[in-house]
Amino acid sequence: MNVLVLNSGSSSQKSCLYEIGDALPDDPPRSVWEGKIEWANDNDNNNGQAQYSIKTSRGVSRKHVTSGGSRREDIERLLQNLWSGETQAVSGPSEINVVGHRVVHGGPQHFEPAMVTTEVKHAIEGVSVFAPLHNQAELEGMEIVAKLLGPVPQVAVFDTGFHRTMPLSAATYPGPHEWFEQGIRRYGFHGINHQYCAQCAAHLLGKDLNSLKLVTCHLGNGCSLAAIREGQSVDTTMGFTPLEGLMMGTRSGSVDPGILTYLMRQRQFSGEQLDEVLNQKSGLLGVSGISSDMRRILAATKNAAEPSIMARAQLAFDMYVHRLRKGIGAMIAVLGGVDALIFTAGVGENSPEVRAAVCDNFAFLGLRLDPGKNAQSPLDNDMDISARDSTVRVLVIHAQEDWMITRECWHLMQRIP
Ligand code: ADP
Repeated sequence: MNVLVLNSGSSSQKSCLYEIGDALPDDPPRSVWEGKIEWANDNDNNNGQAQYSIKTSRGVSRKHVTSGGSRREDIERLLQNLWSGETQAVSGPSEINVVGHRVVHGGPQHFEPAMVTTEVKHAIEGVSVFAPLHNQAELEGMEIVAKLLGPVPQVAVFDTGFHRTMPLSAATYPGPHEWFEQGIRRYGFHGINHQYCAQCAAHLLGKDLNSLKLVTCHLGNGCSLAAIREGQSVDTTMGFTPLEGLMMGTRSGSVDPGILTYLMRQRQFSGEQLDEVLNQKSGLLGVSGISSDMRRILAATKNAAEPSIMARAQLAFDMYVHRLRKGIGAMIAVLGGVDALIFTAGVGENSPEVRAAVCDNFAFLGLRLDPGKNAQSPLDNDMDISARDSTVRVLVIHAQEDWMITRECWHLMQRIP
């Protein structure tokens, strides 16, 4: 079975193809084809540049840049590389059996993976106002697939699904009771990867998942933490939308809601303008004025043209780490202890600086990193980077959302007669 996965991020479109035989393997196999577009999101003048990187299991790897195309045109161009040109992996679109989509927000109705139907698309559209950077992009991905591949089965896997087990005390906001009835509650996001990391951590530690208290740190462009007990999410930092919680690449994370009402009163900011500021012009980018990319922030803390730029980069890094420490502390308190701290996604997997700065403050728990293991970058394999005598294990686990989505597609396809 050929499973194509589309993972539409805020600043990137990732896509990959898995070939699965009669049985689903336990460990993620290598994908047959991987394609990615990154739309630059910083203060440089990028002229709408799209950077493509495509690689195949045959060892063909290509990178190129285009500019001036719409998001839709860029994605169509990426997918056409699956069946044409040097990076071709299948002889035609009809060889793809099912397409899985990561859908960020399932709203109050959709938690379990579902076949994409008109009703499911309406539900995703209905809650897209809660996740402005994502749900529309995912619906667009479904339309592009229908145009290029015809009537292939499509599956939606919801990033909110894993957090449905949160207790009401964690999921309810302390506003009027009617809010909850209107669907205003904590949903939590990145659930596909938080769940994968929990399962993988149990495997790496050789322990039963049901015996573990875990804190997973998903640090990509979007960032969130999850507190996981007995394999179930009991709290998470993202909330009603993917804007709450940690400081992120371009998103502010939590701010005093009084700031927003003040800005609306004083400067007549509209809801849409505030949405744009908080989602696209805040976080690392907003504070540093340089970039949303942690690599560029770290570089600027060491070497920038002006001392004021260096100082702002340092402030952005310090704030990012400060909020991360506070959030992890809160998750450990909710769990009443922690067996393992897990770093995942772009920053979590690749930044020894962030991991060391965060872990330093948990030495009082007896948590200690192995500096040599932490410094290895990139880490080829998932690994334990804590010191032998550490009371808390610290793991780096590569995000595998696409593989989790592939598994869900495979399971749903087994039910089709
Ligand atoms: P997305 O949320 O779009 O899936 P990723 O998980 O790919 O994002 O993470 C993207 C981020 O990872 C980049 O913006 C960058 O800040 C960070 N990143 C990637 N490589 C490194 C690195 N070597 N050091 C620090 N940060 C990195």
